[in-house]
Amino acid sequence: MKRLFICIIIYACLIFLIPSIAVFISGGFAPSKPQTPLSAEYKKQAEEKLGKPPYKIKSYIVSADEVREFDLEEYLVGVVGAEMPASFPEEALKAQAVAARTFIISRIMASKGDVAEHKGAPVCTNPAHCKAWKSVDELTAAWGDNAKENLSKIEKAVKSTENEIAVWNGAPISAVYYSMSSGNTENAADVWGGDVPYLKSVSSSFDENAPNFNSTAEFTLDEFKKIILSEAPEAVFGENPSEWFSEPTLSEGGGVMSIKIGGAEFKGTKIRSMFSLRSHNFSITPEGDKIIFKVKGYGHGVGLSQWGSKFLADSGKNYIDILKYYYTGIDVVKQ
Ligand SMILES: [Zn+2]
Repeated sequence: MKRLFICIIIYACLIFLIPSIAVFISGGFAPSKPQTPLSAEYKKQAEEKLGKPPYKIKSYIVSADEVREFDLEEYLVGVVGAEMPASFPEEALKAQAVAARTFIISRIMASKGDVAEHKGAPVCTNPAHCKAWKSVDELTAAWGDNAKENLSKIEKAVKSTENEIAVWNGAPISAVYYSMSSGNTENAADVWGGDVPYLKSVSSSFDENAPNFNSTAEFTLDEFKKIILSEAPEAVFGENPSEWFSEPTLSEGGGVMSIKIGGAEFKGTKIRSMFSLRSHNFSITPEGDKIIFKVKGYGHGVGLSQWGSKFLADSGKNYIDILKYYYTGIDVVKQ
């Protein structure tokens, strides 16, 4: 009788305990439903615009000056390969794949097919306008000896996250990203105006270890004045260059929101584009007959930092951790 009882206990353990341990080891007791699934309304709109997965998309290929149709997942290999170094760790590449997929889908959902730069396609391959993309041939040529290994690494990052997107409040997010932060990411509201609940400033101090995190840009006094006057003819420059500048107003992330130069007010992002700075996190110092910008980071600073993703992956974080780190309060779901 006692033996039978022990057998029952062991049997019960096998039935209940072992699968539980397996679930625990494979990533914890994940809820069967994501916290913010895609809303029924979004799904309906997506089906009208995109059909059902696997999606086909149209993109305007700038280099070829033509619109081509792709399988979305195939197109993403060209985006991830063009946007992130293939030498980056697998989890960073996977985060990039999900961010790029989400960005493209939200662009398509927002597109009314009237984008002049695209010849009717919802996205293009201009990195300054939409997202960079390269054909497999272009990537292979650029990678040289490492082509085969790099391509299989990128294909794996796309395949292993197939159909996964980042969502907030039932719909795909605007998954913006850039090369490296200035040590903190920026609030979307501080850079572009308009609050976006999941694009909030977070610390990304490890970006300081990225190559060329600090950069400088030098201009002679005449060059500097000429550029300012081309945008603000009313600006006045006295004898002493150290009196040309006001204290800048800084964002929560540390970027320059506004600064007065020669009495004229500029947004930090405007100064960035006028002087081709790597970011709008800068200081301006007159030194002798020069004006020197000292700049931190590279890119607009809103959302996911690609170098930050690399450092997070190096420290053991997976791609979902990385996405949730940079996009506050989001979930990653399959469409
Ligand atoms: Zn575009």
